[in-house]
Amino acid sequence: MSDTAYLNGEFLPLAEARIPVLDRGFIFGDGVYEVIPVYSRRPFRLPEHLRRLQRSLDAIRLGNPMTDSDWTRLVNDLVARHAGEDQSVYLQVTRGVAKRDHAFPSGAKPTVFMMSSPLVTPPREQVEQGVPCITATDYRWLKCDVKSVSLLANCLLRQLAAEAGAVEVVLFRDGCLTEASASNVFVVRNGKLLGPPKNHLILPGITYDVVLELAAAKGIAVELRAIPEQEVRSADELWVTSSSKEVLAVATLDGKAVGGGRPGPVFRTLHQAFQEFKRKVMRQAA
Ligand code: PLP
Repeated sequence: MSDTAYLNGEFLPLAEARIPVLDRGFIFGDGVYEVIPVYSRRPFRLPEHLRRLQRSLDAIRLGNPMTDSDWTRLVNDLVARHAGEDQSVYLQVTRGVAKRDHAFPSGAKPTVFMMSSPLVTPPREQVEQGVPCITATDYRWLKCDVKSVSLLANCLLRQLAAEAGAVEVVLFRDGCLTEASASNVFVVRNGKLLGPPKNHLILPGITYDVVLELAAAKGIAVELRAIPEQEVRSADELWVTSSSKEVLAVATLDGKAVGGGRPGPVFRTLHQAFQEFKRKVMRQAA
C-alpha cells in the first residue's frame, strides 16, 4: 500500500497532494492540527482528539468543516488504507486559500489535510534507561493551549535539544515549569505526582489526561499547581508525555542525573499501567 493522504474531499498518494501557495496555512501558519495515535488499527481516544480540535478551531475562530462523525469515518478510512497495525494520523485544518492579507478572508474554504505514518514509540532502551533532556526559556506565545500549526518557536527550541543530543527541551516561563517542545512534563517528588495546571501556557495533552486517570487508579497522589524550576531540578523523577512518546522518564536534565539517573518506581508503575490500559481499551473496542 502506498502512502495515502486525504486532501479536501479526496484520497490520493501523499506524494501527489498539493496545496496552492496562497493557502493561509503556508503563508501565515493560520491553522490547527491533531496527531492521533492508532493502536491495533484503532484510533486511541478519538473523541477526545476531536474535542480538542474543536477547541483549537474555536480559539482561532474557524468553523469546523466537518462533523465528528465525518471525521471519525475519514480517520478510520485513512487507517484502513495503510497496512500498519500502529499508526500516527496527522490532520490539519487551515483557513484556506485567499489573497494575502492578515485579516480573515470572507468566503475562503478551509483546507483539510490528513496523512498517516507508522507510529514510532520510544525504543525499549529509552523506556528502560530514560532519556537526556535539556532546559530552555519558554518564549512561545500566550495561547499554547491552541494546537496551532504555527510551530516555529517549538521547532527552534527542539533544535536546541537535537544539537545537544537530547530528546526534549523542558521549558520554564517566569520561573515555573510549562511543558516541553512537543510533550507535557510531570514531576515526582516524595512519591507525589506534580503537573502544571491546564491553562493557556500548555497544550492540554490527551496523554496528560490518561496519565492523571491512571495515577488516580493506582492510588498515586497528584497535585496540579505551578512548579518552580528548583522543584524540577531537584525532582525524584521527571517524565515527558505525548501521543508518540507515551510516558517516558527523563534520566538527565542539562547533563545532571534526575533522581538516581534512571527511571524511578512511580514511572515504572505508570508506564506499565499505560501499556496495559491502551491494549485493554483496544480489546474492548474490537
Ligand atoms: N505539548 C505540546 C507542545 C505538544 O506538541 C504535544 C503533542 O504534540 C503535547 C504537549 C502532548 O499532547 P498529546 O498527549 O495530546 O500528544
